[in-house]
Amino acid sequence: MLSQWAKNVSPSPTLAVDAKAKELKATGEDVCGFGAGEPDFDTPSFIKEAGAKALADGMTKYAPAGGLPALRSALANQYQQLGVLQDANPAQVVVSPGGKYSCYLAILATCGPGDEVLIPAPYWVSYPEMVKLAGATPKFIFAGDEQGFKVSAQQIVEALTSQTKLVILNSPSNPTGCLYSKAEMEEIVELACNKDFLLMSDEIYEYLLYDGAEHFRPASFGEDARDRVITVSGFSKTFSMTGWRLGTLVANPIISKAVASLQSQTTSNATTFAQYGALAAIENWDQAMAAVRDMLVHFDRRRLKLLYGLQAIDGVSCLRAKGAFYLFPKISSFGLSSEDFSSRLLEDEKVAVVSGHAFGADGYIRLSYATSDEVIEKGLQRMKSYCGKI
Ligand SMILES: *Cc1c(COP(=O)(O)O)cnc(C)c1O
Repeated sequence: MLSQWAKNVSPSPTLAVDAKAKELKATGEDVCGFGAGEPDFDTPSFIKEAGAKALADGMTKYAPAGGLPALRSALANQYQQLGVLQDANPAQVVVSPGGKYSCYLAILATCGPGDEVLIPAPYWVSYPEMVKLAGATPKFIFAGDEQGFKVSAQQIVEALTSQTKLVILNSPSNPTGCLYSKAEMEEIVELACNKDFLLMSDEIYEYLLYDGAEHFRPASFGEDARDRVITVSGFSKTFSMTGWRLGTLVANPIISKAVASLQSQTTSNATTFAQYGALAAIENWDQAMAAVRDMLVHFDRRRLKLLYGLQAIDGVSCLRAKGAFYLFPKISSFGLSSEDFSSRLLEDEKVAVVSGHAFGADGYIRLSYATSDEVIEKGLQRMKSYCGKI
């Protein structure tokens, strides 16, 4: 009954952990949830007001498939200032219903049967499935904690074949929270130019940075880079707008046109009145960034609380990640697969984490600190007692 595509696709494991934790909670269990893949703050109120005003003003009809002209043009201006675009050309910007859909369209527009896509692991769970849905073949390059969860240009060279079409980068990363330095990023971009492959740079966590870390946009490394990097981002993580469903994509004119066409035939536009909320964020950038800084104060405090707590547990080691809202500790010393480790942790101690297996990295688990200080403190105590008993 089902197509080859439907048979091959697996449901999102991160959403599954969240569902299981919620199910346990519903039966009255006191669950400490570290599974969340979204900020726990509300959307800044001036953005909500702009969305509500657009709704009240009757912005309830279709918009152009590629996005509201005013929003595309505001984004194009911003991306020109960031060096991602040479000219502030709105046609090179596509607004989609979510960064996830932007990623999917970037892959669909550039990859098909016979093409290989290199995915650094640990990876975001959706990339391999999207590549398979495009009929292309995912190939993985592994980078463990000893290399900061970052693949080297040399590793990419070794994995390249004549069929390699696209390499996916995600910095800051989900699930590890790690970022590529300028030099590391430059080396990979140079390789893309010399060896003639495309890069998809998923920058959805670009503004969630700590310890003074800086985010580098591969498309900003020169003219050739601008031509072969597809930059994906969105409003979900930066502005706590996951439910609004708003993503962005910036690419050369040929790719962005194809992406807009694919979008016009599959979903039409991102929700019209929601785009007015996003427009308010871009047009009032200082106010928007002030709201982000407020959220970052809380994220950073929780990050350090969770980091130091994990590092204090015998047998657990954890890198000091400087972006996003995840930590990715190593738990391999306990001799359990990460699936067993996390399912027993949920059963025995009612602590929900995501197994590293889901991200192509057995031996690790992902914890999100987009949760309260109380949950972090209680969860750490329970994990400590659990690890002491294994
Ligand atoms: C959350 C996330 C996205 C996209 O989220 P949307 O809500 O669809 O905008 C994309 N990439 C990564 C790595 C993410 O974690």
